[in-house]
Amino acid sequence: MATCGLLGAKLTHSYSPQIHALLGDYPYVLFEKSEDEVEDFVKNGPFTGINVTIPYKKTVLPYMTELSETARRTGSVNTIIRLKNGGLYGDNTDVYGFTEMVKKSGIDCKGKKTLVLGSGGASVSVIDALRTIGADPIVTVSRTGENNYANLDRHKDAKVIVNTTPVGMYPDNGPSPVDLEMFPECIGVLDLIYNPARTGLLLQAEKLGIPFMNGLYMLVAQAVRSSELFAGEKLGIGITEKVVRELDFSMKNIVLIGMPGSGKSLIAKKISGFTGRTLADTDEEIKKVTGRSPSDIIEEEGEEAFRKIETAVLADICKKSGLVISTGGGVVTRPENYPLMHQNSNIVLIDRPLEMLSSRGRPLSKSKGVKALYEERWRLYEEFADLKVKNSGFKAGAVAGYILEKLKEAGK
Ligand code: NAP
Repeated sequence: MATCGLLGAKLTHSYSPQIHALLGDYPYVLFEKSEDEVEDFVKNGPFTGINVTIPYKKTVLPYMTELSETARRTGSVNTIIRLKNGGLYGDNTDVYGFTEMVKKSGIDCKGKKTLVLGSGGASVSVIDALRTIGADPIVTVSRTGENNYANLDRHKDAKVIVNTTPVGMYPDNGPSPVDLEMFPECIGVLDLIYNPARTGLLLQAEKLGIPFMNGLYMLVAQAVRSSELFAGEKLGIGITEKVVRELDFSMKNIVLIGMPGSGKSLIAKKISGFTGRTLADTDEEIKKVTGRSPSDIIEEEGEEAFRKIETAVLADICKKSGLVISTGGGVVTRPENYPLMHQNSNIVLIDRPLEMLSSRGRPLSKSKGVKALYEERWRLYEEFADLKVKNSGFKAGAVAGYILEKLKEAGK
């Protein structure tokens, strides 16, 4: 029986076990090793095939007895197979993964000036793939290189931007390595980061109407190719899409928005019960952080002070993955809350008819009146939502089931 796995220095946040569980029957073990353990592990470790990740993709190269063409060209190995003759075959499936990502994105790099941000391990594979695709010229932007972030205006004619830096990656969500406004001719943005689903860079691309894609497709495609090497046989057509959809759904949060009293908390509890997703409630979190309830804060300090606290709490919760999150009715009133939620979530609007909404224990509903609040916010709810679901006379469990079905159906 094959034993496969992943070799790296720190592997706690890896998605590879989840991906390989969907691809093959082999056990997939995480092997965390220090630099001085790598040689002995690679030569004598208990595996038939392994993936290699940061920071050992170059370290393992000298121990290989055979190399694929891409591993030789890039000097980087992310898949090792123990051969029957006792030798070790090293391949680089990141090049394949990135090539598939470009194809899937529909962004045409051929003959286009392409900026590759970052000059680390991943950029080598990206540049190798871009050369084969025919991107031209390819310019590496490095903090310390000839082309750097201080002289980016040299390259304002760039057509495609590829981010291979970790800037904007969880848990440091938000910042972007470049301002896309600097590149008026840009026709596509590719970010190797997949957590969050939309980095600061991709959120800006979306806002500017530039086609974009995150790195999840690359991650899965390289794993599919590795899995084929592990098992010695091809996987079916469409497997990459299938795994990407499944992973994308499970990694993204489900955020429920809607009027106070629309049933968000109860429906969120049901979704959590059905799926095992951790439940988060922004109002409950505010209580934990401040020691006061939202209504007390609003009554004592006013709505504006409360909204600031709410945004900070939202930023913290929404950068996580795979949660179901119930929000306070007013989250849509601050535009800066949208990217916080949209970066890594499917946003679902719980639509409960006005006459069924209760104002009990809800200070804003009482003071402004439910109807006035509804009229003030409805357009905002619709603008924020990826999916709108009716909650009028159904059991919370039925609404929760319907939401899960619809999100899966839409490949959200
Ligand atoms: P790496 O070897 O550490 O290289 C990252 C490069 O980014 C560095 O060499 C550096 O280049 C630049 N960089 C680092 N910190 C920076 C900062 N604060 N500001 C600007 N630039 C910075 O890492 P890697 O293996 O190439 O991975 C890079 C990213 O790609 C990670 O987020 C990783 O998760 C992702 N990745 C995704 C996939 C996938 O399948 N989707 C595969 C591999 C990697 P300069 O010194 O030249 O500026």
